Amino acid sequence: MKTGAYLTRAEPDGSARSRTAKKGDLAKHPAPTIKTLATGSLKGVPVAVKDIVVTDDGRPSTAASKILEPFVSPYDATAVAKLREAGAIITGKTNLDEFAMGSSTETSALGKTVNPWDPERVPGGSSGGSAVAVATRDVPLALGTDTGGSVRQPAAFCGVVGFKPTYGRVSRYGMIAMASSLDQAGTFSLTVEDTATLLTAISGADPHDATSVDQPVPDYRKALTGDVKGLKVGLPKEYFIDGVQPEVEQAVRAAADELKAQGAEITEISLPHTKYSIAVYYIVMPAEASSNLARYDGIRYGYSAETDPEADAKTLLDIYLQTKSRGFGDEVKRRIMLGTYVLSSGYYDAYYKQAMAVRTLIQKDFDDAFKDVDVILTPTTPTTAFKIGEKSDDPLQMYLNDIFTVPANLAGLPAISVPAGFDKQGLPIGLQLMGPQWGEETVLRAAHAHEQQHDWHAQTPKDNSKEGA
Ligand code: GLN
Repeated sequence: MKTGAYLTRAEPDGSARSRTAKKGDLAKHPAPTIKTLATGSLKGVPVAVKDIVVTDDGRPSTAASKILEPFVSPYDATAVAKLREAGAIITGKTNLDEFAMGSSTETSALGKTVNPWDPERVPGGSSGGSAVAVATRDVPLALGTDTGGSVRQPAAFCGVVGFKPTYGRVSRYGMIAMASSLDQAGTFSLTVEDTATLLTAISGADPHDATSVDQPVPDYRKALTGDVKGLKVGLPKEYFIDGVQPEVEQAVRAAADELKAQGAEITEISLPHTKYSIAVYYIVMPAEASSNLARYDGIRYGYSAETDPEADAKTLLDIYLQTKSRGFGDEVKRRIMLGTYVLSSGYYDAYYKQAMAVRTLIQKDFDDAFKDVDVILTPTTPTTAFKIGEKSDDPLQMYLNDIFTVPANLAGLPAISVPAGFDKQGLPIGLQLMGPQWGEETVLRAAHAHEQQHDWHAQTPKDNSKEGA
């Protein structure tokens, strides 16, 4: 099966193929060799990288946008540089929703990606390509970015582990910005242990990113003790609501029962402002995105209407207008317009300021909850993977898919999605564990203890083919 996970990919013979550049344009690349990760070493381990994370290897870094299709980065993102230092091999750049705006990888301007469990369904998004590359066993590890769920949601839809660390844990330098106060690097792997290995390698303060935090980086693998005795697990009642697929709810409740049987204490909690999360996110995120995307003006990066024979850009204003009109897709334009609107004078107080005030209340909900519990257990998504095209004409339905993942970004918290079984159609279900700021070790410990109870993470999509990724 061709899943379309990659935009650019190294071939085993050392050549590369690309949807965005001609063969031969690309730097030679050593053939990846899959080595065991069991020792915690990344030497020789292939890693796929979401194409919104820039790489200095002569290949385009596109953000799956026409506007960056010709853009070749002169430097490596810090997370990529750290991976290379650790001996990992970057095997390719994976597909995503344009500028990470979406939940299905359908807004990519550069190609389709399908879910390997059912090619009629989306892989989730925006980091759909990275999730698929891991789900098909093409690579054991992949990098993504998570602004509102873009690592956890595709991980849930594809049956793999997806982790978003605390805001500031991993440098954002070289991750093309969408919404800077929400963006964070994220990881994909088949097991929680491999997530711990990858997280240890990419974490740490970075002089290039003022929002990265100088907190010690432990060996996260040491947190995986398998012991959850006395661990306090909260189930927020606002996450078990109408519209959640019954099998998803059952899977999460079953996981809670299992943790209890292992000695954890389960309590119901309340995060009362959860219902405002999507509304707040869809004000804060577009506001920041509209400002970040102002730099794509046809002068400094990538595509320019000035040199496009099909455009007719005579004046500077023509260049600006036509570069953006032709270079950005519909979803990106929608968010730029939304963001510009909520920041405009007269509306700033009514929308942006108000949203920031409610964001603080959402953060406070979590602060209060973590006085009583160590981790919070929820579904990752209300449903399993939906059909291609099912929500693409209805942005609101698409946005609602992020209802359970967005709060962790608004509060800057670590959160993981791990496999929690399959629905009747054989589609993977994901559960989410959230922790307090810098609580990655507790989150990973709980996720690992859950994972040890089943072999869900070891199951592969039936029509699985490495070559097809
Ligand atoms: N799906 C969400 C959105 O469309 C989240 C995207 C992301 O995390 N990058 O904004």
